[in-house]
Amino acid sequence: MIPRTVYEEEHELFRGSVRKFLETEAAPYHAQWEKDGQVDRALWTKAGEQGFLSPSVAEEYGGVGVDFRYNAIVDEECGRSGLTGIGWGLHSDIAVPYIERYGSEAQKQKYLPKCVTGEIIMAIAMTEPAAGSDLQGIKTTAVKDGDDYIINGSKTFITNGQLADLVIVVAKTDPSAGAKGISLFLLEAGTPGFSKGTNLEKVGLKAQDTSELFFQDVRVSKDQLLGEEGMGFIYMMQDLPQERLNVSILAIACAEAILEQTIAYVKERNAFGKTVATFQNTQFKLAELETQVSAARVFLDRCLELHIEHKFDSVMAAKAKLLTTDLQCKVVDECLQLHGGYGFMWEYPVARAFADSRVQRIYAGTNEVMKLIIGRDLLK
Ligand SMILES: Cc1cc2nc3c(=O)[nH]c(=O)nc-3n(C[C@H](O)[C@H](O)[C@H](O)COP(=O)(O)OP(=O)(O)OC[C@H]3O[C@@H](n4cnc5c(N)ncnc54)[C@H](O)[C@@H]3O)c2cc1C
Repeated sequence: MIPRTVYEEEHELFRGSVRKFLETEAAPYHAQWEKDGQVDRALWTKAGEQGFLSPSVAEEYGGVGVDFRYNAIVDEECGRSGLTGIGWGLHSDIAVPYIERYGSEAQKQKYLPKCVTGEIIMAIAMTEPAAGSDLQGIKTTAVKDGDDYIINGSKTFITNGQLADLVIVVAKTDPSAGAKGISLFLLEAGTPGFSKGTNLEKVGLKAQDTSELFFQDVRVSKDQLLGEEGMGFIYMMQDLPQERLNVSILAIACAEAILEQTIAYVKERNAFGKTVATFQNTQFKLAELETQVSAARVFLDRCLELHIEHKFDSVMAAKAKLLTTDLQCKVVDECLQLHGGYGFMWEYPVARAFADSRVQRIYAGTNEVMKLIIGRDLLK
């Protein structure tokens, strides 16, 4: 492998503590959480005590104020361990940064410290039953009423939806203004009229709670508007590169881990009096996958560096997401094949990874949408 240069010694020390934490506090319970459809809330507060949630939040709001590489390490460790029920990435890399970047001072004071401790779990609700890729087609509205807004509508497929204490809701404040009529609201769980649907049953990510959310005449004060009215779409476009980077980091960490586990497996497994590792097909498959994963790792690390330097744009993010998630799905599929029937058994990490990976090509913008972004840029 080409040596990684993106991290320094202190990052690797941090990695060690995240890995140990996951091994002791998450891995032994994850199978049960898959049955429960969500992780134990206590995992969040324990992680908060260790400084693993939103490490980039400034010290004045309770964080440690470090750069995104610390978030990336948490993502890598979750990705490599296959503990896919843990929705910290959605919280730390995707939702909380909206408050950091666009929140008022009062909102930052009120919410960020608890986001760091894990007392507040966040979600972001963009997708609706009739609008996913085409976000401008959302129907949820927030209508001004004096100093308040009244929110009506519904959302679906919302990660952390059951556990969430605070949800960023994307709503239309001016349905006639297209993208300029979209705004973001901070909605607290328990607000009258705001309800959560059942935990959705999914192909993979079994321990991650994913929900529908409903808003019926939900009254929120104008203090719950996040940033400026009408700027919601622009904020989302600005923040999507970090979301796509998060997904890419999970993808390559998972691919590397599954490849490593498969190499160990084929060296042990026998067929026709020799190990599966001795077959030329096995060697060629592994060689191809390893070559592609190594190349993607170098590309992704460079993306991470560019992100730290604030030079990672939406086209690069689309390329990273497309490349890494397609590759992740290819790796887990080929590795499952090399496991034979055992690869199809839930107890094997490769089986879980196969189920869990599939959605990576769908959420955070489908890979077809990534191609649209890249194609548009090429032909502009
Ligand atoms: C497990 C899970 C977790 C999720 N978490 C969240 C969350 O936390 N918050 C949130 O807001 N959303 C979340 N989502 C929603 C996710 O972002 C959407 O599913 C995704 O954006 C696709 O939207 P859609 O499902 O409506 O598909 P559609 O938009 O209906 O797409 C259907 C198909 O058409 C293709 N397509 C659409 N438009 C075009 C086009 N112009 N050109 C070519 N092909 C096109 C798509 O690529 C896809 O193949 C989650 C989804 C899942 C499954």
